[in-house]
Amino acid sequence: MQMTRCMNCGAERDEDKCDVCGLTSTAAEFSLRSKLLNRTAIFLLGAVTFVVASGRYPALELDGILIFIGVVFFITLGIAIWLERRAVAHQDVDILKRLYYGLIPLPWLLAGLLFMNGMLDASKMHSEQARVISKFSMPGPMASRRLIVTSWREGHHLERIPVDRVDFDRFTKGDLVDVQVKDGLVSIPWVTGVSMR
Ligand SMILES: [Zn+2]
Repeated sequence: MQMTRCMNCGAERDEDKCDVCGLTSTAAEFSLRSKLLNRTAIFLLGAVTFVVASGRYPALELDGILIFIGVVFFITLGIAIWLERRAVAHQDVDILKRLYYGLIPLPWLLAGLLFMNGMLDASKMHSEQARVISKFSMPGPMASRRLIVTSWREGHHLERIPVDRVDFDRFTKGDLVDVQVKDGLVSIPWVTGVSMR
């Protein structure tokens, strides 16, 4: 099987041993796979950091953001699996590798954005009146609890307010509540708390 590029350094090669980095195709494959493993670890750590950030400064549109990061997450892991299979089969991996490496910082960037948006937010908190319509909770390691309330924003019917366990248990359907919202440094509104009106 002829490989056109070195899996380690990406240089063109016509012999088994790469002229640029000196690795054989087998050594280059191992080098690539260990790099993939390291990058995947960095990516997963970024995803965890993102979950922490989204819990610390819960965006009003958290569910939309979570769906986006979820799609990115599975696409990235899918590419990692595909890349690994191609590496084992000694097929060309250059473009996939670039794509994969490009996706690695994404959860870190999004986590940083959410932290910055909340931590450096100097905007005034405002209270919005709403009525609890229903509640939603998903158990598990990434447990999420939402109060579904009437929206105060134009063009929105409902808001899905991220709350902690205490607030989730405290409110029931029909309650009139005040939702405390801050506008966010980079204009991602986030919820600082919910109280009974
Ligand atoms: Zn090389």
